Amino acid sequence: MIDLSKGFSRRQFIARTSCFGAWYAVARLIPVPALAAGDSRVSQTPIVDKGFASVRKIGEGLYATISDPSKGLTTICNGGFLVGKDTALLLEGFAGPAGATFQMDALRMVSRVPVQGALDTHYHFDHSMGNSFYGANGLPLWAHATAAKRIVESYAPMQGADKEAVLGPFEKRVKDAKSDMERAHAQSDLNAMTGVFQIANATVLGLPNHPLDPAKLPMTIDLGGLTARVESYPGHSGTDIVVRAPEQNVVYTGDLLFSGWYPVCFDEKATISGWRETLKKFAAFDKDTLFVPGHGQICGQEGIASIREVFDDIAGQAEKMYRAGVPVGEAQHRYVVPDKFKNFPIYAWGFTIGPAITKLYAEWQGK
Ligand SMILES: [Zn+2]
Repeated sequence: MIDLSKGFSRRQFIARTSCFGAWYAVARLIPVPALAAGDSRVSQTPIVDKGFASVRKIGEGLYATISDPSKGLTTICNGGFLVGKDTALLLEGFAGPAGATFQMDALRMVSRVPVQGALDTHYHFDHSMGNSFYGANGLPLWAHATAAKRIVESYAPMQGADKEAVLGPFEKRVKDAKSDMERAHAQSDLNAMTGVFQIANATVLGLPNHPLDPAKLPMTIDLGGLTARVESYPGHSGTDIVVRAPEQNVVYTGDLLFSGWYPVCFDEKATISGWRETLKKFAAFDKDTLFVPGHGQICGQEGIASIREVFDDIAGQAEKMYRAGVPVGEAQHRYVVPDKFKNFPIYAWGFTIGPAITKLYAEWQGK
């Protein structure tokens, strides 16, 4: 017989322990959110602020949901919604159904129009684990054509899996670390994986049912007096979708932009050269473009310039080591965070800087 009470108390235990380590560790570093300085489109007063996230108007019919993981992990990623005269479009599935519910409630504070659908900017857990909310409400869910497959492949095997089996290899890396630095990096990776494991086990997977074939993009969605343009770019996850409101120069980038954070590069389909090329394209968008990043604060072109500088710095340090013959296993730990980026949160070393360097080495070796 299944002891439900036991399962429940275990879930409660998980929720109360600080095992979402990486997010808490990162959250401690997040400075008080500063809005895109002086941009008159961004409302100073949010329509709702629950601590873990706030929602504010950033244009005509355009809203941004900005998360603050230091105050709770209901949403984790940023999102938003676009509201036309006839229909609305919701962005992101967040870290759980409560996150998607929160955003839907925010939409209902400003409009009663029917929802045409929701869209995940990519498959990662913090953007998709709340998808079941859309399924339960009969809402179509758009995402990159391979997003559903990658959600299943990445998170279904964790459900009900033996925690030790999943986290064991990460614990072993902490134990086997050859220096304090390597141990700290391995510990940050273990914390991150622990969080992913727990969130994946706390949710019912919901899959996008409107696959977007990148070969058929861009696609335009008419919301009634407001156009959403859906585009795909390489870089962060191999499933990255961007939503633009071209008439107002507003772009919801998903994780192709980490604003004031070190970029998360671990994905097997992440491409550093592809990502830098994408950012170069973003930099060529109108100078008044407002970007809603996947993580971090709303920004203008200065946010794009800043993440490009971070990539330049990682590539610069990596190239010096590559030329000096430093083996990749060592190089991935030896990057030094420069002073000007010392306040940029690092989600976990082995999800950000480490794989960026490994991938750069592979590109240089023509692999
Ligand atoms: Zn992501």
